[in-house]
Amino acid sequence: MPEEVLTKLSANLRGSVITPASSEYEVARKVYNGMIDRRPDAIVRCVNVADVRAAVNFARQERLTVAIRGGGHNGAGFGVCDHGLVIDLSPMKGVRVDPTTNTVRAEAGCTQADLNHAAHSFGLAVPVGIISTTGIAGLTLGGGTGYLTRKYGMALDNLLEADLVLADGRFVTASTKENPDLFWAIRGGGGNFGLVTSFLFRGCPVGQVFAGPMLWEMEHARELLQWYREAAPALPEELYGFFAFLKVPPGPPFPEELHRKTMCGIVWAYCGPLDKAEEAFRPVRNFRAPKFELTGSMPYTALQSMFDAIYPPGDQWYWRGDFVAQIPDAAIEEHLKFAEQLPTLKSTMHLYPVDGAVSRIDRHETAFNYRDAKWSMVIVGVDPEPANVEKITTWTKRYWAALHPYSLGGAYVNFMMDEGLDRIKATYRDNYDRLVEIKRKYDPHNFFHVNQNIRPD
Ligand SMILES: Cc1cc2nc3c(=O)[nH]c(=O)nc-3n(C[C@H](O)[C@H](O)[C@H](O)COP(=O)(O)OP(=O)(O)OC[C@H]3O[C@@H](n4cnc5c(N)ncnc54)[C@H](O)[C@@H]3O)c2cc1C
Repeated sequence: MPEEVLTKLSANLRGSVITPASSEYEVARKVYNGMIDRRPDAIVRCVNVADVRAAVNFARQERLTVAIRGGGHNGAGFGVCDHGLVIDLSPMKGVRVDPTTNTVRAEAGCTQADLNHAAHSFGLAVPVGIISTTGIAGLTLGGGTGYLTRKYGMALDNLLEADLVLADGRFVTASTKENPDLFWAIRGGGGNFGLVTSFLFRGCPVGQVFAGPMLWEMEHARELLQWYREAAPALPEELYGFFAFLKVPPGPPFPEELHRKTMCGIVWAYCGPLDKAEEAFRPVRNFRAPKFELTGSMPYTALQSMFDAIYPPGDQWYWRGDFVAQIPDAAIEEHLKFAEQLPTLKSTMHLYPVDGAVSRIDRHETAFNYRDAKWSMVIVGVDPEPANVEKITTWTKRYWAALHPYSLGGAYVNFMMDEGLDRIKATYRDNYDRLVEIKRKYDPHNFFHVNQNIRPD
Protein backbone atom coordinates (compact mmCIF):
# COMPACT_ATOMS: atom_id res chain seq x y z
CA MET A 1 0.00 0.00 0.00
CA PRO A 2 1.58 3.34 -0.98
CA GLU A 3 2.99 5.26 1.97
CA GLU A 4 1.13 8.47 1.19
CA VAL A 5 -2.14 6.55 1.35
CA LEU A 6 -1.31 5.22 4.80
CA THR A 7 -0.17 8.64 5.95
CA LYS A 8 -3.62 9.92 5.04
CA LEU A 9 -5.15 7.26 7.28
CA SER A 10 -2.72 7.81 10.20
CA ALA A 11 -3.45 11.53 10.17
CA ASN A 12 -7.08 10.76 11.05
CA LEU A 13 -6.34 8.47 14.00
CA ARG A 14 -5.59 8.65 17.70
CA GLY A 15 -4.53 5.00 17.47
CA SER A 16 -1.72 3.62 15.32
CA VAL A 17 -1.17 1.98 11.94
CA ILE A 18 1.14 -1.02 11.81
CA THR A 19 2.58 -2.04 8.43
CA PRO A 20 4.94 -4.82 7.34
CA ALA A 21 7.75 -2.31 7.87
CA SER A 22 6.85 -1.79 11.56
CA SER A 23 8.79 -3.63 14.25
CA GLU A 24 5.50 -4.76 15.88
CA TYR A 25 4.11 -6.24 12.65
CA GLU A 26 5.07 -9.90 13.19
CA VAL A 27 3.44 -9.94 16.63
CA ALA A 28 0.47 -7.76 15.64
CA ARG A 29 -0.58 -10.01 12.75
CA LYS A 30 -0.71 -13.13 14.94
CA VAL A 31 -4.03 -14.44 16.19
CA TYR A 32 -4.73 -17.02 18.89
CA ASN A 33 -4.66 -20.01 16.50
CA GLY A 34 -1.00 -20.61 15.62
CA MET A 35 -2.09 -22.37 12.43
CA ILE A 36 -3.17 -19.04 10.92
CA ASP A 37 -0.40 -17.23 9.04
CA ARG A 38 -1.80 -14.21 7.19
CA ARG A 39 -0.14 -10.98 6.14
CA PRO A 40 -2.39 -7.91 6.01
CA ASP A 41 -1.17 -4.74 4.30
CA ALA A 42 -1.89 -2.79 7.46
CA ILE A 43 -3.33 -3.17 10.94
CA VAL A 44 -5.19 -0.22 12.41
CA ARG A 45 -5.18 -0.21 16.19
CA CYS A 46 -8.29 1.80 17.06
CA VAL A 47 -8.63 3.54 20.41
CA ASN A 48 -12.10 5.06 19.94
CA VAL A 49 -15.18 5.18 17.72
CA ALA A 50 -13.71 8.00 15.62
CA ASP A 51 -10.77 5.73 14.76
CA VAL A 52 -13.13 2.93 13.81
CA ARG A 53 -15.12 5.21 11.52
CA ALA A 54 -11.94 6.55 9.94
CA ALA A 55 -10.70 3.01 9.31
CA VAL A 56 -14.03 1.79 7.85
CA ASN A 57 -14.35 4.85 5.59
CA PHE A 58 -10.74 4.50 4.48
CA ALA A 59 -11.09 0.81 3.67
CA ARG A 60 -14.31 1.40 1.73
CA GLN A 61 -12.81 4.26 -0.30
CA GLU A 62 -9.64 2.28 -1.04
CA ARG A 63 -11.67 -0.90 -1.75
CA LEU A 64 -9.72 -2.93 0.77
CA THR A 65 -10.64 -6.28 2.25
CA VAL A 66 -11.33 -5.78 5.96
CA ALA A 67 -10.93 -8.18 8.88
CA ILE A 68 -12.17 -7.20 12.34
CA ARG A 69 -10.23 -8.27 15.35
CA GLY A 70 -11.61 -8.35 18.88
CA GLY A 71 -9.86 -10.92 21.06
CA GLY A 72 -8.32 -12.75 18.07
CA HIS A 73 -9.68 -16.14 19.23
CA ASN A 74 -11.65 -17.08 16.14
CA GLY A 75 -10.68 -20.65 15.21
CA ALA A 76 -10.82 -20.02 11.47
CA GLY A 77 -8.67 -16.92 11.95
CA PHE A 78 -11.25 -14.39 10.77
CA GLY A 79 -9.59 -11.75 12.96
CA VAL A 80 -6.88 -11.33 10.29
CA CYS A 81 -6.73 -11.36 6.48
CA ASP A 82 -4.16 -11.59 3.72
CA HIS A 83 -3.56 -8.16 2.15
CA GLY A 84 -6.21 -5.63 3.10
CA LEU A 85 -6.76 -3.99 6.45
CA VAL A 86 -7.19 -5.43 9.93
CA ILE A 87 -9.31 -3.20 12.14
CA ASP A 88 -7.98 -4.16 15.54
CA LEU A 89 -10.16 -3.13 18.48
CA SER A 90 -8.00 -4.66 21.19
CA PRO A 91 -7.00 -1.25 22.66
CA MET A 92 -10.71 -0.44 23.25
CA LYS A 93 -11.18 -1.90 26.71
CA GLY A 94 -13.40 0.58 28.54
CA VAL A 95 -15.97 -1.01 30.88
CA ARG A 96 -18.59 0.91 32.85
CA VAL A 97 -20.77 -0.88 35.37
CA ASP A 98 -23.99 0.85 36.40
CA PRO A 99 -24.97 -0.64 39.77
CA THR A 100 -28.33 1.17 39.75
CA THR A 101 -29.51 -0.68 36.66
CA ASN A 102 -27.22 -3.72 36.96
CA THR A 103 -25.93 -3.15 33.47
CA VAL A 104 -22.43 -3.32 32.05
CA ARG A 105 -21.25 -1.27 29.05
CA ALA A 106 -18.10 -2.74 27.51
CA GLU A 107 -16.04 -1.66 24.53
CA ALA A 108 -15.50 -4.25 21.82
CA GLY A 109 -11.80 -4.85 22.52
CA CYS A 110 -12.52 -6.35 25.94
CA THR A 111 -11.70 -9.92 26.74
CA GLN A 112 -13.93 -11.89 29.06
CA ALA A 113 -11.42 -11.17 31.81
CA ASP A 114 -11.66 -7.40 31.24
CA LEU A 115 -15.45 -7.52 31.31
CA ASN A 116 -15.96 -9.68 34.36
CA HIS A 117 -13.12 -8.21 36.39
CA ALA A 118 -15.06 -4.94 36.31
CA ALA A 119 -18.48 -6.54 36.84
CA HIS A 120 -17.28 -8.74 39.73
CA SER A 121 -16.45 -5.69 41.81
CA PHE A 122 -20.21 -4.98 41.85
CA GLY A 123 -21.29 -8.57 42.51
CA LEU A 124 -22.28 -9.00 38.87
CA ALA A 125 -21.19 -11.21 36.00
CA VAL A 126 -22.00 -11.35 32.30
CA PRO A 127 -22.40 -14.93 31.01
CA VAL A 128 -19.47 -15.61 28.68
CA GLY A 129 -17.21 -18.57 27.87
CA ILE A 130 -14.71 -20.73 29.71
CA ILE A 131 -11.34 -19.17 28.82
CA SER A 132 -10.89 -15.63 30.05
CA THR A 133 -8.64 -14.45 27.19
CA THR A 134 -11.43 -14.87 24.59
CA GLY A 135 -12.74 -11.62 23.11
CA ILE A 136 -16.29 -10.65 24.04
CA ALA A 137 -17.04 -9.29 20.56
CA GLY A 138 -16.73 -12.41 18.41
CA LEU A 139 -18.07 -14.51 21.29
CA THR A 140 -21.23 -12.45 21.86
CA LEU A 141 -22.04 -11.91 18.18
CA GLY A 142 -22.05 -15.68 17.65
CA GLY A 143 -23.63 -16.76 20.95
CA GLY A 144 -21.41 -16.98 24.01
CA THR A 145 -22.01 -20.16 25.99
CA GLY A 146 -20.39 -20.92 29.33
CA TYR A 147 -20.74 -21.61 33.03
CA LEU A 148 -23.78 -19.36 33.57
CA THR A 149 -25.68 -20.40 30.44
CA ARG A 150 -28.22 -22.79 31.97
CA LYS A 151 -29.30 -20.23 34.53
CA TYR A 152 -28.93 -16.93 32.67
CA GLY A 153 -28.63 -17.77 28.96
CA MET A 154 -25.83 -17.00 26.54
CA ALA A 155 -23.92 -13.72 26.25
CA LEU A 156 -26.22 -12.68 23.41
CA ASP A 157 -29.31 -13.35 25.54
CA ASN A 158 -28.00 -10.75 27.98
CA LEU A 159 -27.23 -8.17 25.32
CA LEU A 160 -29.45 -5.09 25.70
CA GLU A 161 -27.96 -2.94 22.97
CA ALA A 162 -24.88 -2.44 20.83
CA ASP A 163 -23.30 0.52 19.06
CA LEU A 164 -22.11 -0.16 15.54
CA VAL A 165 -20.30 1.47 12.66
CA LEU A 166 -21.97 0.32 9.45
CA ALA A 167 -20.23 -0.34 6.13
CA ASP A 168 -21.20 3.14 4.89
CA GLY A 169 -19.62 4.75 7.98
CA ARG A 170 -22.88 5.54 9.79
CA PHE A 171 -22.88 5.10 13.56
CA VAL A 172 -26.04 3.43 14.87
CA THR A 173 -27.41 1.79 17.98
CA ALA A 174 -29.15 -1.57 17.80
CA SER A 175 -31.64 -2.59 20.48
CA THR A 176 -35.24 -3.77 20.69
CA LYS A 177 -36.25 -0.11 20.19
CA GLU A 178 -33.66 1.16 17.69
CA ASN A 179 -32.96 -0.75 14.50
CA PRO A 180 -34.58 -3.90 15.92
CA ASP A 181 -33.90 -5.90 12.74
CA LEU A 182 -30.19 -5.21 13.12
CA PHE A 183 -30.37 -6.10 16.81
CA TRP A 184 -32.03 -9.40 15.88
CA ALA A 185 -29.30 -10.16 13.33
CA ILE A 186 -26.27 -9.40 15.50
CA ARG A 187 -27.51 -11.78 18.18
CA GLY A 188 -26.02 -14.80 16.46
CA GLY A 189 -25.23 -13.50 12.98
CA GLY A 190 -21.61 -12.61 13.83
CA GLY A 191 -19.73 -9.66 12.34
CA ASN A 192 -21.73 -9.66 9.09
CA PHE A 193 -23.77 -6.49 9.60
CA GLY A 194 -21.48 -3.87 11.05
CA LEU A 195 -18.58 -3.28 13.32
CA VAL A 196 -19.66 -3.20 16.96
CA THR A 197 -17.85 -0.60 19.04
CA SER A 198 -19.53 -1.31 22.38
CA PHE A 199 -22.02 -3.67 24.01
CA LEU A 200 -24.53 -3.02 26.79
CA PHE A 201 -25.13 -6.17 28.84
CA ARG A 202 -27.47 -7.12 31.64
CA GLY A 203 -25.33 -8.04 34.64
CA CYS A 204 -26.34 -11.22 36.48
CA PRO A 205 -26.09 -11.49 40.27
CA VAL A 206 -23.09 -13.84 40.46
CA GLY A 207 -20.09 -13.42 42.78
CA GLN A 208 -18.82 -16.61 44.41
CA VAL A 209 -19.49 -19.95 42.73
CA PHE A 210 -18.92 -23.56 43.81
CA ALA A 211 -17.02 -25.08 40.95
CA GLY A 212 -14.24 -27.19 39.51
CA PRO A 213 -13.48 -30.44 37.70
CA MET A 214 -14.18 -34.07 38.58
CA LEU A 215 -12.32 -36.77 36.65
CA TRP A 216 -13.07 -40.46 36.20
CA GLU A 217 -11.04 -43.29 34.65
CA MET A 218 -11.87 -44.23 31.05
CA GLU A 219 -13.23 -47.63 32.14
CA HIS A 220 -16.19 -45.65 33.55
CA ALA A 221 -16.62 -43.40 30.50
CA ARG A 222 -19.61 -45.26 29.04
CA GLU A 223 -21.41 -45.27 32.37
CA LEU A 224 -20.54 -41.60 32.96
CA LEU A 225 -21.85 -40.44 29.58
CA GLN A 226 -25.03 -42.51 30.03
CA TRP A 227 -25.54 -40.94 33.43
CA TYR A 228 -24.66 -37.45 32.15
CA ARG A 229 -27.11 -37.48 29.21
CA GLU A 230 -30.02 -38.25 31.56
CA ALA A 231 -28.98 -36.50 34.76
CA ALA A 232 -27.36 -33.25 33.61
CA PRO A 233 -30.47 -31.71 31.95
CA ALA A 234 -32.53 -32.57 35.06
CA LEU A 235 -30.16 -30.80 37.48
CA PRO A 236 -31.16 -27.37 38.84
CA GLU A 237 -30.29 -24.67 36.30
CA GLU A 238 -27.83 -23.10 38.73
CA LEU A 239 -25.70 -26.22 38.26
CA TYR A 240 -23.85 -26.41 34.96
CA GLY A 241 -21.43 -29.18 34.03
CA PHE A 242 -19.61 -29.56 30.75
CA PHE A 243 -18.42 -33.04 29.80
CA ALA A 244 -14.87 -33.62 28.56
CA PHE A 245 -12.51 -36.28 27.30
CA LEU A 246 -8.98 -35.15 28.02
CA LYS A 247 -5.44 -36.08 28.83
CA VAL A 248 -4.46 -34.95 32.34
CA PRO A 249 -1.94 -32.09 32.25
CA PRO A 250 1.46 -33.16 33.61
CA GLY A 251 1.74 -30.85 36.60
CA PRO A 252 0.11 -29.72 39.83
CA PRO A 253 -2.59 -29.88 41.09
CA PHE A 254 -2.95 -33.28 39.38
CA PRO A 255 -1.33 -36.27 41.12
CA GLU A 256 1.66 -37.65 39.25
CA GLU A 257 0.09 -41.05 38.58
CA LEU A 258 -2.61 -39.33 36.51
CA HIS A 259 -0.28 -37.18 34.41
CA ARG A 260 -0.87 -37.60 30.65
CA LYS A 261 -3.54 -40.23 31.31
CA THR A 262 -6.67 -40.14 29.13
CA MET A 263 -9.67 -39.57 31.38
CA CYS A 264 -13.25 -38.38 31.21
CA GLY A 265 -14.59 -35.61 33.35
CA ILE A 266 -17.13 -32.95 34.08
CA VAL A 267 -16.30 -29.37 34.95
CA TRP A 268 -18.98 -28.09 37.29
CA ALA A 269 -20.11 -24.59 38.12
CA TYR A 270 -22.87 -23.87 40.62
CA CYS A 271 -24.01 -20.24 40.66
CA GLY A 272 -26.85 -20.41 43.21
CA PRO A 273 -26.70 -19.62 46.96
CA LEU A 274 -23.60 -21.36 48.32
CA ASP A 275 -25.45 -22.92 51.24
CA LYS A 276 -27.59 -24.79 48.69
CA ALA A 277 -24.62 -26.11 46.69
CA GLU A 278 -24.39 -29.42 48.52
CA GLU A 279 -28.04 -30.14 47.87
CA ALA A 280 -27.67 -29.27 44.17
CA PHE A 281 -24.69 -31.62 43.89
CA ARG A 282 -26.51 -34.54 45.58
CA PRO A 283 -27.36 -36.37 42.30
CA VAL A 284 -23.72 -35.98 41.26
CA ARG A 285 -22.52 -37.34 44.60
CA ASN A 286 -24.86 -40.30 44.20
CA PHE A 287 -23.06 -41.26 41.00
CA ARG A 288 -19.72 -43.09 41.24
CA ALA A 289 -17.06 -41.15 43.19
CA PRO A 290 -14.51 -39.46 40.91
CA LYS A 291 -10.87 -40.51 40.83
CA PHE A 292 -9.85 -36.85 41.12
CA GLU A 293 -11.78 -33.80 42.24
CA LEU A 294 -10.84 -30.16 42.59
CA THR A 295 -14.05 -28.39 43.49
CA GLY A 296 -14.54 -25.55 45.92
CA SER A 297 -15.91 -22.11 46.45
CA MET A 298 -14.20 -19.44 44.38
CA PRO A 299 -14.89 -16.07 42.71
CA TYR A 300 -16.54 -16.45 39.32
CA THR A 301 -13.54 -14.62 37.81
CA ALA A 302 -11.20 -17.34 39.16
CA LEU A 303 -13.34 -20.07 37.57
CA GLN A 304 -13.36 -18.16 34.30
CA SER A 305 -9.56 -18.18 34.14
CA MET A 306 -9.01 -21.68 35.60
CA PHE A 307 -7.92 -23.24 32.30
CA ASP A 308 -6.18 -20.25 30.69
CA ALA A 309 -2.69 -21.57 31.37
CA ILE A 310 -3.39 -24.87 29.60
CA TYR A 311 -4.51 -23.07 26.46
CA PRO A 312 -2.20 -20.09 25.82
CA PRO A 313 -2.20 -18.32 22.44
CA GLY A 314 -0.04 -19.72 19.67
CA ASP A 315 -0.97 -23.43 19.71
CA GLN A 316 -2.08 -25.11 16.50
CA TRP A 317 -5.84 -25.38 16.75
CA TYR A 318 -8.38 -27.25 14.60
CA TRP A 319 -11.97 -27.72 15.66
CA ARG A 320 -15.31 -28.96 14.45
CA GLY A 321 -18.64 -28.76 16.23
CA ASP A 322 -22.32 -29.60 16.12
CA PHE A 323 -25.40 -29.04 18.23
CA VAL A 324 -26.72 -32.12 19.96
CA ALA A 325 -30.11 -32.90 21.49
CA GLN A 326 -29.59 -36.57 22.33
CA ILE A 327 -26.65 -38.85 22.98
CA PRO A 328 -27.81 -42.35 21.97
CA ASP A 329 -25.80 -45.45 22.93
CA ALA A 330 -24.40 -45.71 19.38
CA ALA A 331 -23.03 -42.15 19.66
CA ILE A 332 -21.46 -43.02 22.99
CA GLU A 333 -19.63 -45.95 21.37
CA GLU A 334 -18.16 -43.60 18.74
CA HIS A 335 -17.15 -41.13 21.46
CA LEU A 336 -15.34 -43.87 23.36
CA LYS A 337 -13.49 -44.99 20.24
CA PHE A 338 -12.16 -41.52 19.38
CA ALA A 339 -11.49 -40.52 22.99
CA GLU A 340 -9.10 -43.44 23.28
CA GLN A 341 -7.22 -41.98 20.30
CA LEU A 342 -6.80 -38.38 21.59
CA PRO A 343 -3.88 -37.40 19.35
CA THR A 344 -2.07 -34.94 21.63
CA LEU A 345 -1.95 -33.82 25.25
CA LYS A 346 -4.26 -30.81 24.72
CA SER A 347 -6.74 -32.33 22.27
CA THR A 348 -10.19 -32.75 23.74
CA MET A 349 -13.93 -33.11 23.20
CA HIS A 350 -16.37 -30.99 25.15
CA LEU A 351 -20.15 -31.04 25.44
CA TYR A 352 -21.30 -27.60 26.58
CA PRO A 353 -24.86 -27.44 27.97
CA VAL A 354 -27.15 -25.01 26.12
CA ASP A 355 -30.44 -26.00 27.75
CA GLY A 356 -32.23 -24.21 30.60
CA ALA A 357 -32.58 -20.46 30.01
CA VAL A 358 -31.42 -20.77 26.38
CA SER A 359 -34.30 -23.08 25.51
CA ARG A 360 -36.96 -20.76 26.96
CA ILE A 361 -36.40 -18.24 24.15
CA ASP A 362 -38.12 -18.81 20.83
CA ARG A 363 -35.70 -19.80 18.07
CA HIS A 364 -36.94 -16.97 15.85
CA GLU A 365 -36.41 -14.32 18.51
CA THR A 366 -32.70 -14.00 17.73
CA ALA A 367 -30.55 -15.06 14.77
CA PHE A 368 -29.10 -17.79 17.00
CA ASN A 369 -31.38 -20.67 16.12
CA TYR A 370 -30.56 -23.88 18.00
CA ARG A 371 -32.78 -23.28 21.03
CA ASP A 372 -33.77 -26.95 20.88
CA ALA A 373 -30.22 -28.22 21.43
CA LYS A 374 -29.10 -29.57 24.77
CA TRP A 375 -25.37 -29.41 24.08
CA SER A 376 -22.96 -27.62 21.84
CA MET A 377 -20.32 -30.23 21.03
CA VAL A 378 -16.79 -29.25 20.06
CA ILE A 379 -14.05 -31.64 19.01
CA VAL A 380 -10.73 -29.86 19.11
CA GLY A 381 -7.24 -30.94 18.11
CA VAL A 382 -4.63 -28.75 19.81
CA ASP A 383 -0.85 -28.90 19.91
CA PRO A 384 2.02 -26.43 20.16
CA GLU A 385 3.94 -28.30 17.44
CA PRO A 386 3.23 -27.27 13.81
CA ALA A 387 4.46 -30.71 12.70
CA ASN A 388 1.36 -32.21 14.34
CA VAL A 389 -1.17 -30.22 12.33
CA GLU A 390 -2.11 -33.13 10.12
CA LYS A 391 -2.45 -35.48 13.09
CA ILE A 392 -4.82 -33.20 15.03
CA THR A 393 -6.79 -32.23 11.93
CA THR A 394 -7.33 -35.79 10.76
CA TRP A 395 -8.45 -36.98 14.20
CA THR A 396 -10.86 -34.04 14.54
CA LYS A 397 -12.41 -34.55 11.10
CA ARG A 398 -12.84 -38.31 11.58
CA TYR A 399 -14.31 -37.91 15.05
CA TRP A 400 -16.69 -35.22 13.79
CA ALA A 401 -17.77 -37.32 10.79
CA ALA A 402 -18.58 -40.23 13.10
CA LEU A 403 -20.70 -38.08 15.43
CA HIS A 404 -22.34 -35.77 12.89
CA PRO A 405 -25.20 -38.23 12.11
CA TYR A 406 -26.27 -38.03 15.78
CA SER A 407 -26.36 -34.21 15.79
CA LEU A 408 -29.07 -31.69 14.95
CA GLY A 409 -27.22 -31.00 11.69
CA GLY A 410 -25.54 -27.66 12.31
CA ALA A 411 -22.85 -26.20 14.52
CA TYR A 412 -22.34 -23.25 16.80
CA VAL A 413 -20.94 -20.61 14.45
CA ASN A 414 -18.08 -19.88 16.84
CA PHE A 415 -16.91 -23.50 16.73
CA MET A 416 -16.53 -23.63 12.97
CA MET A 417 -13.53 -23.45 10.69
CA ASP A 418 -13.99 -22.08 7.17
CA GLU A 419 -16.44 -24.86 6.22
CA GLY A 420 -18.48 -23.38 3.37
CA LEU A 421 -21.94 -21.97 2.74
CA ASP A 422 -23.93 -25.14 3.46
CA ARG A 423 -22.51 -25.32 6.96
CA ILE A 424 -23.34 -21.63 7.52
CA LYS A 425 -26.90 -22.24 6.34
CA ALA A 426 -27.11 -25.26 8.66
CA THR A 427 -26.11 -22.98 11.55
CA TYR A 428 -29.06 -20.64 11.02
CA ARG A 429 -31.66 -23.07 9.62
CA ASP A 430 -34.93 -21.16 9.01
CA ASN A 431 -33.41 -17.87 10.21
CA TYR A 432 -31.03 -17.78 7.27
CA ASP A 433 -33.31 -16.06 4.73
CA ARG A 434 -34.09 -13.24 7.16
CA LEU A 435 -30.36 -12.79 7.80
CA VAL A 436 -29.80 -12.41 4.03
CA GLU A 437 -32.53 -9.75 3.89
CA ILE A 438 -30.96 -7.80 6.77
CA LYS A 439 -27.51 -8.17 5.25
CA ARG A 440 -28.86 -6.62 2.03
CA LYS A 441 -30.18 -3.67 4.00
CA TYR A 442 -27.12 -2.94 6.17
CA ASP A 443 -24.20 -4.26 4.10
CA PRO A 444 -25.41 -4.66 0.49
CA HIS A 445 -21.88 -4.80 -0.96
CA ASN A 446 -20.64 -7.40 1.53
CA PHE A 447 -18.00 -5.08 2.94
CA PHE A 448 -17.88 -7.25 6.08
CA HIS A 449 -17.11 -10.63 4.53
CA VAL A 450 -14.12 -11.99 6.46
CA ASN A 451 -16.40 -14.03 8.71
CA GLN A 452 -18.88 -16.92 8.52
CA ASN A 453 -20.29 -15.00 5.62
CA ILE A 454 -23.96 -14.38 4.99
CA ARG A 455 -23.91 -13.25 1.39
CA PRO A 456 -26.32 -10.48 0.34
CA ASP A 457 -26.77 -11.94 -3.16
C1 LIG B 1 -9.54 -21.06 23.82
C2 LIG B 1 -10.92 -20.76 23.34
C3 LIG B 1 -11.99 -20.98 24.17
C4 LIG B 1 -13.28 -20.68 23.76
N1 LIG B 1 -14.32 -20.91 24.60
C5 LIG B 1 -15.56 -20.56 24.24
C6 LIG B 1 -16.63 -20.71 25.15
O1 LIG B 1 -16.47 -21.16 26.27
N2 LIG B 1 -17.86 -20.33 24.74
C7 LIG B 1 -18.09 -19.81 23.51
O2 LIG B 1 -19.23 -19.45 23.22
N3 LIG B 1 -17.09 -19.68 22.62
C8 LIG B 1 -15.84 -20.04 22.95
N4 LIG B 1 -14.82 -19.90 22.07
C9 LIG B 1 -15.12 -19.50 20.70
C10 LIG B 1 -15.17 -18.00 20.56
O3 LIG B 1 -16.47 -17.56 20.87
C11 LIG B 1 -14.83 -17.59 19.13
O4 LIG B 1 -13.55 -18.03 18.84
C12 LIG B 1 -14.97 -16.08 18.92
O5 LIG B 1 -14.89 -15.83 17.53
C13 LIG B 1 -13.91 -15.31 19.64
O6 LIG B 1 -14.13 -13.94 19.58
P1 LIG B 1 -12.89 -12.92 19.46
O7 LIG B 1 -13.42 -11.54 19.54
O8 LIG B 1 -11.82 -13.32 20.40
O9 LIG B 1 -12.43 -13.28 17.99
P2 LIG B 1 -11.72 -12.48 16.80
O10 LIG B 1 -10.86 -13.49 16.13
O11 LIG B 1 -11.09 -11.23 17.26
O12 LIG B 1 -12.95 -12.09 15.89
C14 LIG B 1 -13.63 -13.10 15.25
C15 LIG B 1 -14.67 -12.57 14.31
O13 LIG B 1 -15.70 -11.98 15.08
C16 LIG B 1 -16.19 -10.84 14.41
N5 LIG B 1 -15.90 -9.66 15.23
C17 LIG B 1 -14.97 -9.52 16.21
N6 LIG B 1 -15.07 -8.30 16.76
C18 LIG B 1 -16.08 -7.67 16.13
C19 LIG B 1 -16.69 -6.40 16.26
N7 LIG B 1 -16.29 -5.54 17.16
N8 LIG B 1 -17.72 -6.09 15.46
C20 LIG B 1 -18.17 -6.96 14.54
N9 LIG B 1 -17.63 -8.18 14.37
C21 LIG B 1 -16.61 -8.53 15.16
C22 LIG B 1 -15.51 -10.74 13.09
O14 LIG B 1 -16.20 -11.43 12.10
C23 LIG B 1 -14.21 -11.46 13.38
O15 LIG B 1 -13.62 -11.96 12.24
C24 LIG B 1 -13.51 -20.17 22.47
C25 LIG B 1 -12.42 -19.95 21.62
C26 LIG B 1 -11.15 -20.26 22.04
C27 LIG B 1 -10.01 -20.11 21.10
